[in-house]
Amino acid sequence: MKIKTLLAGVAAGAMVIGLAACSSGGSGASSTGAAAAGDGGLIGVAMPTKSSERWIQDGDAVKSQLEDAGYTVDLQYAEDDIPTQVSQIENMITKGAKALIIASIDGTTLTSVLQEAADNSIPVIAYDRLIRDTPNVDYYASFDNYKVGVQQANSVLNGLGLVGLDGTPTSGAPAGPFNIELFAGSPDDNNASFFWNGAIDTLQPYIDKKILVVKSGQTAFEQAATLRWDGETAQKRMENILTSTYSDGSKVNAVLSPYDGISRGIISALTDAGYTVGAGWPVISGQDAELDSVKAIVAGEQYATIFKDTRNLAKVAVDMATALLQGNTPQTNNTKDYNNGVKVVPAYLLESQIVVKDNIKDVLVTSGYYTDAEING
Ligand code: BGC
Repeated sequence: MKIKTLLAGVAAGAMVIGLAACSSGGSGASSTGAAAAGDGGLIGVAMPTKSSERWIQDGDAVKSQLEDAGYTVDLQYAEDDIPTQVSQIENMITKGAKALIIASIDGTTLTSVLQEAADNSIPVIAYDRLIRDTPNVDYYASFDNYKVGVQQANSVLNGLGLVGLDGTPTSGAPAGPFNIELFAGSPDDNNASFFWNGAIDTLQPYIDKKILVVKSGQTAFEQAATLRWDGETAQKRMENILTSTYSDGSKVNAVLSPYDGISRGIISALTDAGYTVGAGWPVISGQDAELDSVKAIVAGEQYATIFKDTRNLAKVAVDMATALLQGNTPQTNNTKDYNNGVKVVPAYLLESQIVVKDNIKDVLVTSGYYTDAEING
């Protein structure tokens, strides 16, 4: 409810600012000399990679919303290559960008290029991933990343019959023990430890009670981490765990996965090792509601994912950028949790939702994120 109201506010704000940008247009464009179509001036949008569907949706949503607000957009993808992202941002600065919206690849590598941005008085919005180790990031638009981790853990516990999707313990729940293996995201992405902490805090009581057993013994973030969120890296690690820990005939009952692409790697490793969907197939979590993974949920290969509506995140970031360019203060709802090593970056955090087979229609189709035909066609 609260979020809906806030979003309505964000949307209304974006509209008002959009109109203002349109009506005051010309001067902005001529002062940068770089804005061809929109009159509000150029905004640079740096996204990490096209290899994951979510970032394409993010990029498209940010671009179209900025264009609707009267800006011209330079949208770039860096295919997960750090120097490429740095030079793309340098280019945006050279072209006269009035603001930057950046989803970083490695949150610690943008310090010098963002100094250049600051020297040119260009405001910077960290998009979804916090940019670290620099004072030159103004605002942060994201989801409640700790809560995403809690939801990932709850989805696994739910699949095992231990809790409801909201984490409420099920009465008469099975005693286990269940074998679980743990995967984390990329260690250079600030979000990865938030997801991990949320998930582990939720799973730990079950591990302590021996209802869950991490049979490989790999319980440290560093052991579970998956550089660049890479599915093949996850697949190899899962294969190694299956060989080293489950050759005795025991079975993995659940896998905590922080991202759909990692889940797909895990699913391949399990299939290659002879697991088949049905009884004995493990409960696997995910994140991003990527279309292939939603299909995998329908097929019973993946148990759950976390839906983060990229359209709403785009709206928050666009509103932040436009507010700053109009000399207004962007709306925030968290000014304590995201310390980037130099300062606490004021943030606006959105809520995410667990998606399982039963609520795909309600959450993803009714909201217009996917059509029924895309999922089931
Ligand atoms: C995002 C996740 C995404 C992951 C891999 C994280 O920073 O918050 O939504 O699954 O990156 O792209």
